[in-house]
Amino acid sequence: MAPSSTNRGRRRVLLLPLPYQGHINPMLRLAATLHSRGLAVTILHPETRAPDRRKLPADYRLVTIPDGISPELAASEDIASFVFALNKNCAAPFGDYLAGALRKEEEDGRVAFVVADVDWFAPLSVARELGVAALALMTSSAARFLVYLAYPSLSHKGYLPVQDSNFNTAVEELPPFFVRDLHRVMDMTRHLAYADLLAHIVAGVRQSSGLIINTSGDIEGMEIERIHSEIALPVFAVGPLHMMTSSSSVESSLLTEDRSCLDWLDTQRPNSVLYVSFGSLVGIDTDEFLELAWGLADSQRPFVWVVRPRLVHGCKSSTLPDELQEKIGNRGRIVSWAPQQEVLRHPSVAAFLTHCGWNSTTESISEGVPMICRPLSGDQMGTARYVCDVWKVGVRVEVENQLKREQVQTAITRLMDGKEGEEVRERMRDLRHVVVKCTSEGGTSDVALQRLVDSNV
Ligand code: UDP
Repeated sequence: MAPSSTNRGRRRVLLLPLPYQGHINPMLRLAATLHSRGLAVTILHPETRAPDRRKLPADYRLVTIPDGISPELAASEDIASFVFALNKNCAAPFGDYLAGALRKEEEDGRVAFVVADVDWFAPLSVARELGVAALALMTSSAARFLVYLAYPSLSHKGYLPVQDSNFNTAVEELPPFFVRDLHRVMDMTRHLAYADLLAHIVAGVRQSSGLIINTSGDIEGMEIERIHSEIALPVFAVGPLHMMTSSSSVESSLLTEDRSCLDWLDTQRPNSVLYVSFGSLVGIDTDEFLELAWGLADSQRPFVWVVRPRLVHGCKSSTLPDELQEKIGNRGRIVSWAPQQEVLRHPSVAAFLTHCGWNSTTESISEGVPMICRPLSGDQMGTARYVCDVWKVGVRVEVENQLKREQVQTAITRLMDGKEGEEVRERMRDLRHVVVKCTSEGGTSDVALQRLVDSNV
């Protein structure tokens, strides 16, 4: 911990990430950006999946909050129960810590503001009760936050829970979405639990001091305008956050990266390799896993595939049948976790077969890598809609019900060979240029970030 004299008179920001990789990464990237603009940083993290202190910059403070969460709940797919339990168990210890930080402002630096993930509705309210400005961070897109805002009325109008019969209906109130893009919760109990969670999240944001979004006004300008018109709060579009700071200043991976795939990429031809990853959370069934593997094998393309532990439902690790392994040979490289940004930046990588998590999507855009989209849950279908139909920088794997190897192969061919792929790549080059500009000095995200730093929210 830095000696207190260095912190005297400094403004300090307290950041509270939600303990998922896709939420920790943008929050730590925001921390690094605020730090580089002069603020002292305290990361408050629940015990569950807390980042490694040794990987954080020496003068960050890391405080772990007791969360009382069982390993089973932490690993379960019941995200609503997990988030409710976190809020219930962590609000009081968070409040105690914040009250202590306010008492020690003289030596530790004035608490300028708190930033909590939008999912932390209870701590946001505790901070407000203690008179501290607290902002909510939306780690996903502005379009996704519009879905949060509209969820009650979309349920009321019968769009949700999604049913087979309305799957392909356009949501007039929320273009460009179709019902299938909203949220794939099809059973009523889970739908109600999720609706309850979103109601808490939106109420928490409405009572916060402002909303920070990991997006850029240059790619989601209309969506941000619409949020402005629906919530009377300052909105800061400061992303994509991974572009606002040098990657060497943020080390937030919870799993160990297998860097050997970078050496392997060095041996491949420029612009030839397909990178395949489904992020940190979603699982697929064995049939989908095998069809995907056959699709990759049949495509004859070199690939790097992230098969993380528990990617395949019910299996801790997943090995391919001998016949498939023989067919793939040295043409494919399977790793349990990759240094994703470096892989995407590698000149051998030509395309990204992705689940369309928001971080993966923005990381792909920033490297100008076009996408093959296979969204599975949460915000992924909505993001795939933007990738394929709004920005047109990717193609979908067209799946009827169950994924088939031919569909994988068709999508790979569409993107990696022929005219359509060339047009997609050209649009991706243009989109990359847009995000590089908005995150550079004087760009919209840079200006929004400075407005946040300077504000007395
Ligand atoms: N990631 C990584 N290595 C991998 C796979 C993913 O570092 O092998 C990172 C990726 O760069 C991204 C995050 O994990 O920052 C995944 O976030 P995203 O929003 O894309 O998906 P989620 O995991 O939330 O579904």
